[in-house]
Order: sequence, then structure tokens, then C-alpha cells
Amino acid sequence: MEIVLATGNLHKVKEIKDILKGLDIKFLTLQDFPKMPDIVEDGKTFEENAVKKAKEIARLTGKIALSDDSGIEAEALNNAPGVYSARFAGEKASGSANNKKLIELLKGIPLARRKARFVCVIAIAEPGGRIYTAEGELKGIIALRPAGKRGFGYDPLFIVPRYKKTVAQLSAGVKNSISHRSKALKKAKGILKQLLK
Ligand code: IMP
Repeated sequence: MEIVLATGNLHKVKEIKDILKGLDIKFLTLQDFPKMPDIVEDGKTFEENAVKKAKEIARLTGKIALSDDSGIEAEALNNAPGVYSARFAGEKASGSANNKKLIELLKGIPLARRKARFVCVIAIAEPGGRIYTAEGELKGIIALRPAGKRGFGYDPLFIVPRYKKTVAQLSAGVKNSISHRSKALKKAKGILKQLLK
């Protein structure tokens, strides 16, 4: 079975492939379909955006598509940046610009009030229109300053209490065993196994 990963984020592609390895699936990416349009992420929830991306890519490619919409919610900021995580500091903002903005907005707030969660919704769309979704979360604390070089996005700022380290200080293997993305994908794996039958 071939599945198109409906994301242009190569970090996500790598994590998705690592977590779903072992399934009899050939993963294609948007690089295999260079003419795909940019899909506007105008949903109010992770689920709306994930469904929109998967549906559109399945319709345009005629293949099963799997999308990921994810982000970080900070309790002290009323769950911002949420669906705006990728463009928090502006359209096409870099990870470090987004991190800088988050640190600035949380200035003066002690660690006890810096609770946050990473959220990931995976959507799987069949070209015929059928759609499945799965969600995962990872709870943590937003650090006072970035630490670590691995991962992407907000990983250098996201402390996982169990490890007392930021996600960017964890190995890819550990991140992929605890992350919001891996929890959503473990649920999605069940759906994919059904589709493989
Ligand atoms: P989108 O799902 O493409 O709209 O963007 C998700 C954004 O959320 C990314 O650009 C990151 O800023 C952030 N994000 C999602 N998952 C992770 C993760 O595993 N680590 C760090 N940041 C993440």
C-alpha cells in the first residue's frame, strides 16, 4: 500500500516514518508530487486542519493521505499559540523566532505556572472521502531558556518532567516513544492495519 504523507515538514516526515516502521507501507511525500498547492490551514482546531490537509491531498493524488497537525498550548497564555504554533512569530517564522516570542510572553512567570502541552492530530483520508483521526498529547513545562539541539520547533523549550530535560535534549528514540506524535500515530497504526487488510 502507498500512502502520501501530506506535510512539507521534513522533521515530521522523519518522525512519522520512524514511528510507523514495520508496516507494509510505502511512504510517498509531497516531494513526489511537486505540483501540489499549498493548503491553507484556516481551521480553528488541530483536527480541522489535519482533516483538511489529508482530504485535499488524497483528492489531488488519488492515494491514501496521512497528515499531521500539531502545536503547543501554553496554559498561562490561554492555550496560545495552539493552531498558530508554526507562524507564532509571523508567516514562515523560524523555530528560534517562535521560541523567542514564547519566552518573551512568559517573562516573569515562574516554572510552576508554565504548564504546557504538545498536541498532535493525525488524519488519514481515503481518496473516496472516508476519513479517520487520532490524537495524542505530551504534557510538560516551558523552560526559562532553550536547551538542547535535537528535534525541531519548540523542542528546546519543552521540559518533560519525567526526564527533567527538554525534548531537544532527548534522543530521537526517546522522543518517539513519548511524544504527542507517537501517541497519535500508535492509534493511527491500528487504523492503517485495518486498511491494509
Ligand atoms: P503545523 O502542524 O504544520 O501547522 O505546525 C506545527 C508547528 O507546531 C511546528 O512548526 C512546530 O512549531 C510545532 N510543533 C509540532 N510538533 C512539534 C514537536 O514535536 N516539537 C516541537 N515543535 C512542534
